Amino acid sequence: PKALPNPLLKMENVQAGYSDKVILSNINFQLLPGSRIGLLGRNGAGKSTLIKMLSGELTPKSGEVWYANGVSLGYFAQHQLETLRPQDSPLQHLVRLDPLVPEQKLRDFLGGFGFHGDKALEACAPFSGGEKARLVLALLVYQRPNLLLLDEPTNHLDLEMREAIVMALQDFAGAIVVVSHDRHLLSSTTDEFYLVAHGKVAPFEGVLQD
Ligand code: ATP
Ligand code: MG
Repeated sequence: PKALPNPLLKMENVQAGYSDKVILSNINFQLLPGSRIGLLGRNGAGKSTLIKMLSGELTPKSGEVWYANGVSLGYFAQHQLETLRPQDSPLQHLVRLDPLVPEQKLRDFLGGFGFHGDKALEACAPFSGGEKARLVLALLVYQRPNLLLLDEPTNHLDLEMREAIVMALQDFAGAIVVVSHDRHLLSSTTDEFYLVAHGKVAPFEGVLQD
């Protein structure tokens, strides 16, 4: 029989929560290279809690989160929008990541995230929520992590920009885990679903409604 590839990440019997409050228990979950997972569930169900644990931002109350050697993670969540250096333009952010790459290549890449022409050169300081979100997403995708964790990445985006992000994520070659109430985003970028409900995480076998 053909061996399965080694997982990028595994959760074994994990319990998650905050101080003395348990939010999720008995989580068993593994993520193979290239998998594209959507997390479903209602407000307050624990989706962000789960993705925070996958990212390492939150430590399990018990059980183990195991990462493959050399795995690189990219993590998007709304609270990270405030970590951008406001004095830098999108282009300067990318140049800092990759100083040797020709400027035109970086500009082309930023165009895919809606930063065309002068927009690539304007400092972040007066950026809107959607502009910040697009820039943080661009910086993450540019770095090509093995695993991209996205918590509500299209929250602040208009339809046109949402479509640009969908296309960028479709081109992304690594594994992704997406939390979103945006069914269009989920159905066009992920193909395997888990439902977070009643303190548990379970494979979702139903049909995604748009
Ligand atoms: P939404 O769709 O609204 O984003 P969610 O599924 O992401 O919801 P979580 O943010 O994971 O839900 O929250 C799950 C539960 O954990 C909620 O009851 C929430 O009140 C609680 N919770 C979240 N963050 C904290 C925190 N920092 N301290 C204590 N409780 C928290
Ligand atoms: Mg959430």
